[in-house]
Amino acid sequence: MQASHNSRETGRDAMRALMLEKDAAGAFRASVQSLDPSALPPGDVRVAIEYSTLNYKDGLAITQKAPVVRSWPMVAGIDGAGTVLHSEHPAFKPGDRVVHNGWGLGETRWGCLAEQASLQGDGLVKLPSAISTRQAMAIGTAGYTAMLCVMALEDHGLKPAAGDVLVTGASGGVGSVAVALLARGGYRVVAATGKAHEADYLQALGAAQVIDRAELAAPGKPLQKERWAAVVDAVGSHTLVNALAQTRYGGAVAACGLAQGGDLPGSVMPFILRGVSLLGVDSVMAPLDRRQLAWQRLARDLDPQSLERMVTEVDLDGAVAAAQRLMDGQVRGRVVVKVGP
Ligand code: NDP
Repeated sequence: MQASHNSRETGRDAMRALMLEKDAAGAFRASVQSLDPSALPPGDVRVAIEYSTLNYKDGLAITQKAPVVRSWPMVAGIDGAGTVLHSEHPAFKPGDRVVHNGWGLGETRWGCLAEQASLQGDGLVKLPSAISTRQAMAIGTAGYTAMLCVMALEDHGLKPAAGDVLVTGASGGVGSVAVALLARGGYRVVAATGKAHEADYLQALGAAQVIDRAELAAPGKPLQKERWAAVVDAVGSHTLVNALAQTRYGGAVAACGLAQGGDLPGSVMPFILRGVSLLGVDSVMAPLDRRQLAWQRLARDLDPQSLERMVTEVDLDGAVAAAQRLMDGQVRGRVVVKVGP
């Protein structure tokens, strides 16, 4: 991947930010506003944000579809990548290129859909030199979570020779990156999608086969024909239960999402009769060493051309409309938000 450098000089001028607000009557508003950077919360690293992104959780927050925001007003954006302006943290100095994912940003702490962010150095990751700030946000929490899922399956012992790996929610952010990573790692990837018209896109990312997500979406038998050596599931609910019921003896399912639902309406049969493992994957509070490893692996294992295929780019003013499209299921892959100049 190619590095890009785009730093700004000072943190003094007014900055633009996507603010989420509720008025006294509880009416919600999402709008781009100009702020004095002195309004930013305390933090030991000040970052000039060059790119941010829209993850599923950003979509929920910006459209107020779910109670993601815990404190008002809030600057949106759970992810950001940019250049350090000022640091009181020993690990960072001005000019360092950094990426931030999660840790409550955009939920309890002002986020990165803004020209500057005040962050905690203990949660920041230095970008590997091979990844530009734009590529970092093309990956974002969605892609970094896909990497955590692949790492969880590898830690379980998964190897390409074990057989087919299913990816659900395949045309979404987590799914697209998981397909690309697994295919490049030599796995035979089966992509489950509700968007038949995205079959070419998924095959270009490396899927060997594309199936209709309807095959997995309805209630099924507790044990079904053994199809998958492993699964990356971004969907939850009946899809996750059917994926477990179709996983081969000793296989594993990495569960990270709930696009279909947060319920788990299944049975213990795959666990107790086939030794199947259900591996939970969380990105928000993942420890720093795990994050650093995930970003190193992304730099090494994610094909930049595949990543670019996933990207739609908008600017800060286009972020609210793009968040609505994401929630309406009209977005393929990843949305990058250009924040800086
Ligand atoms: P996207 O919106 O980009 O993708 C979600 C995909 O899920 C869609 O593109 C669609 O794929 C599929 N989908 C949507 N609705 C349904 C449905 N009703 N039934 C079955 N499939 C559906 O979101 P992300 O990829 O960014 O995130 C995916 C999930 O992972 C979300 O639930 C998110 O909250 C979660 N997540 C969790 C993280 C963690 O730390 N555990 C971190 C990041 C995300 P298709 O059209 O191809 O079927």
